[in-house]
Amino acid sequence: MANIISGVAASPGIAIAKAFRYINTPYIPQQKTITDAIAEAGRFRQAIEQSKIEIEEIRLKTEQRLGAQKAEIFEAHLFLLEDPDLIDSVLDKVKDEQASAEYALYEVTAAVVEMLLELDNEMVRERAADVKDVSGRLMSHLLGKPYASLSGISEETIILAEDLTPSDTAQLDLNVILGFVTEIGSRTSHSAIMARSLEIPAIVGAGAASAAVADGALVIMDATEGKVIVDPSEEVLAEYREKKKQYDERKVQLKRLARQPSVTADGEHLELAANIGSVEDLNKVLENGADGVGLFRTEFLYMGRSSLPTEEEQFQIYKHVLEKLGGKRVVIRTLDIGGDKELPYLELAKESNPFLGLRALRLCLTREDLFRTQLRALLRASVFGKLNIMFPMIAVLSELREAKRILEEERVKLQQEGIPVSDLIEVGMMIEIPAAAIGADYFAKEVDFFSIGTNDLIQYTMAADRMNESVAYLYQPYHPSILRLVRMVIKAAERAGIWSGMCGEMAGDQTAIPLLLGMGLNEFSMSAGSVLPARELIGKLSKQEWASLSEEALGMSTQEEVQQFVKQRRPL
Ligand code: PEP
Ligand code: MG
Repeated sequence: MANIISGVAASPGIAIAKAFRYINTPYIPQQKTITDAIAEAGRFRQAIEQSKIEIEEIRLKTEQRLGAQKAEIFEAHLFLLEDPDLIDSVLDKVKDEQASAEYALYEVTAAVVEMLLELDNEMVRERAADVKDVSGRLMSHLLGKPYASLSGISEETIILAEDLTPSDTAQLDLNVILGFVTEIGSRTSHSAIMARSLEIPAIVGAGAASAAVADGALVIMDATEGKVIVDPSEEVLAEYREKKKQYDERKVQLKRLARQPSVTADGEHLELAANIGSVEDLNKVLENGADGVGLFRTEFLYMGRSSLPTEEEQFQIYKHVLEKLGGKRVVIRTLDIGGDKELPYLELAKESNPFLGLRALRLCLTREDLFRTQLRALLRASVFGKLNIMFPMIAVLSELREAKRILEEERVKLQQEGIPVSDLIEVGMMIEIPAAAIGADYFAKEVDFFSIGTNDLIQYTMAADRMNESVAYLYQPYHPSILRLVRMVIKAAERAGIWSGMCGEMAGDQTAIPLLLGMGLNEFSMSAGSVLPARELIGKLSKQEWASLSEEALGMSTQEEVQQFVKQRRPL
């Protein structure tokens, strides 16, 4: 009997494949003294042999399916299993300290990983992931349990996991991983955002039921509706194969709009930009014909590593993005760490309410060293394209003024050093705290643009944690209270003669777009995959007509009324 599990459709698409359960919490063994060191060493050697056989199988399969280059990584894994430094260190620990094989393996590999992560070389640091992977595999053999890893997958698969970290998501091999389902998370959690940049179907927040899906079971993921169908009947399977075919055909049709301008039915030109988290996202931005980058979430440059990125590393990345966009606008947001995005190496104090704590610009103003490094890298890169700098999480004017003062100081310093800086940089702020939305009129006098961050603006307005499923019902983008705040911001920008944009998920939402257009929003920044459907939709909408329709919607009192109202009037 087919079993249907519901979750949140986080990144659209349809996938049909076997399930793979991914358990990504590393096992940490207890320290225990053993009595027979020879037998323990034997167990370890046996785990090595079993791992070698397994890796060789994966290597071969990968080579056949994806080519020799993709299979190289497994040669490196085999090499590690022959590495005397690693193997002998474990065996010595077993012999000299009477440690269990599990504990010796854990101690030795954890030290190697830590050492590699400290080195200032990206290539070497990547080796840490290989050591972790091999050590996890050895550990699973010692424990007699199957090993779960995303890197060893060579068959078409749908991943089911409790959650995926941004670095797990970044490592997905899209040739074989057709989609993922997580137990926790919401549309705005970072694995969801990442999935949309990669354009891979994703369903999040599917709850405990998804944990019960057996490894290897056939599943259909309908990430247009947030449905996972386990063990479907032949009839359902045929229905979804057809649905998938139609979905994929529509995607091809939409691609034709990639070279078209973003213009409404009544001739109003808008900017449909894309959000990115890394240089890797740029291909999707260009493929989907985005008019620019409306949000570069730079915090991902700081994550998944053990030390801060240097000024030079950052400069190279910003320069690359600006050059790739060839003169189109690129809005780069300064570091937004805190909330659900942690940087363990900063060793910040634990907070009981991190989303209300020392986050984003608040942190940067207390850690000026890291803020100044980022600003210098941005200013140096500014001559390579059309750079806009944006500050996140501003609540009061003094924060904006302080950030601008530091930026100006760094600009003067660079000029004194003879380093060129563009005169055309625009400086703006995110509006994601209700205080900033309500005070948009006085902020508008001191910035070149606004970008509304609805992911946070909704959570702070509704006092509902964007990661917490129990209060997900309060996460209401079309609620009149949210729409009224958005309108206040757009109107304040209009009055001050600056442009307004939106880079929260709402900007790419097909129900929200007609209302935002009607309210006068100038720039919409969304995941790359939403740009073409948005361009298609605005091409059918009249700005003038939606100006009065949006006024009507803003007078309503529930999200449901607004939703219904837009659905009835929006063209299909
Ligand atoms: C937002 O809050 O809407 C936003 C775009 O920022 P982030 O999702 O990175 O917090
Ligand atoms: Mg935000």
